[in-house]
Amino acid sequence: MSNPKIWLSSPHMGGSEQKYVNEAFETNWVAPLGPNVIGFEQDIEKYLKADCHVAALSSGTAAIHLGLVLLGVKSGDEVICQSFTFSASANPILYQGAIPIFIDSEPETWNMCPKALEEAIISRISKGKKPKAIIAVHLYGMPFKVDEIRAVANKYEIPIIEDSAEALGSTYKDRKCGTFGDIGVLSFNGNKIITTSGGGALVAKSKELKEKAVFFATQSRDNAPHYQHSEIGYNYRLSNICAGIGRGQMEVLDKHITLRREMHDFYANYFTNIDGITVLREPNSDYFSNHWLSAILVDPNKNEGRTREDLRLAFEKENIESRPLWKPMHLQPVFKKYPYYGSKVAEELFENGLCLPSGSNLDKVDRDRILEKLNVFFNNL
Ligand SMILES: *Cc1c(COP(=O)(O)O)cnc(C)c1O
Repeated sequence: MSNPKIWLSSPHMGGSEQKYVNEAFETNWVAPLGPNVIGFEQDIEKYLKADCHVAALSSGTAAIHLGLVLLGVKSGDEVICQSFTFSASANPILYQGAIPIFIDSEPETWNMCPKALEEAIISRISKGKKPKAIIAVHLYGMPFKVDEIRAVANKYEIPIIEDSAEALGSTYKDRKCGTFGDIGVLSFNGNKIITTSGGGALVAKSKELKEKAVFFATQSRDNAPHYQHSEIGYNYRLSNICAGIGRGQMEVLDKHITLRREMHDFYANYFTNIDGITVLREPNSDYFSNHWLSAILVDPNKNEGRTREDLRLAFEKENIESRPLWKPMHLQPVFKKYPYYGSKVAEELFENGLCLPSGSNLDKVDRDRILEKLNVFFNNL
């Protein structure tokens, strides 16, 4: 195969990342703390604009796990989680020995359905256990129905862990995603909208909560000259090297969001002329998605029987990466035995959905290759 690979979403450096990394080497801050960690946290706080306190961590998964720890989730507790998501949203529930309760999506944002959420809470309470937390996710950068989910959470006084791993820079009613939850979660994995090669952050509402998160993330050391521990700790702090990459990436975040949104426009425009394709888009002007990934649904009945899998394979032949939407957690072998509330919205999204190459670093040559493939596939010549 001669054509270079077109990735779904690959790292896109802005230019000054190396400078911050070099500074770390020159000053010997080669450790999971240091000036880049502090600076990166401040950059994110400034970016999120809300009154929030950010703890930089080794991954988004670590942030979700610490979120559960901070909310006091223990063995045998129940935690509600959006089913249509990446497994990292749900795995930490099991790390705590707690029980996940999965919730279906609604068809507008593809995220947690507020009705199914309330049904689940009522049902769990009637069985004798009130869920300890709700993990709601802004998938592919699309904000979930924040007001509706918040109203249900408040009604039953259950805290929200807001999984904003895919939605840095997205907003709902002009407020940044990551600031809506009782605890917010960000990820800087290699395929996310910005990357530190690997990393994440926990967004706290108070300085005290952030300090507690950092305490747990650095092995829960009590205040003593020797090493003393009264609580179980974790090694979850972000490295000062990685944080240096993050500082450079924060400088280009908004530019990269503009480029991702242009990729989304590219697909949205293309598919206006093609029957049987639904593009995930903002339901109304309250929503602003970073369009981390552009995603479509392919209706085989309107495409002469051709499915999203046919399109994926056609792309693959041309060395172009695309990927089915997340397989819902309640259908995963490892999570099948846990309760699920809803119908088949998430299941149908998975069956017909495909994520298309969406990187901020795709150029005209890449787009032309994608276009050519789409034209052949949809007989649109
Ligand atoms: C990437 C991702 C995570 C996990 O973040 P990591 O930094 O990879 O641990 C969690 N939830 C969602 C929805 C994600 O996409």
